[in-house]
Amino acid sequence: MRKYKPASPEKKKIALKEMKEYLSKAESYFSKDKVMAAKYVQKARRSGMRYKVSFPKTLKKKFCKHCHSYLKQGVNVTVRTNKSNVVYTCKECKGVMRFGYN
Ligand SMILES: [Zn+2]
Repeated sequence: MRKYKPASPEKKKIALKEMKEYLSKAESYFSKDKVMAAKYVQKARRSGMRYKVSFPKTLKKKFCKHCHSYLKQGVNVTVRTNKSNVVYTCKECKGVMRFGYN
């Protein structure tokens, strides 16, 4: 059986850079074509998964974790505060994401 070999830090760094690039591309496509924006979100996720890199906290809030559509405040996501969470509701799939304060 093949042993799991962790990815080198340089590759992880490259993957993170790619993820950021894809998300900024998704943002630029968002106003014109939501399908293309979702495709770029998917690409960003893929390059993260390839080297086991998770999105930083700030980037996690930029797309829906259920339907992977790009989220823009005031357009397709509502942000409400709760007793213990900040709640993001995706208007595309009505999925809910909760983020803690801090
Ligand atoms: Zn969604």
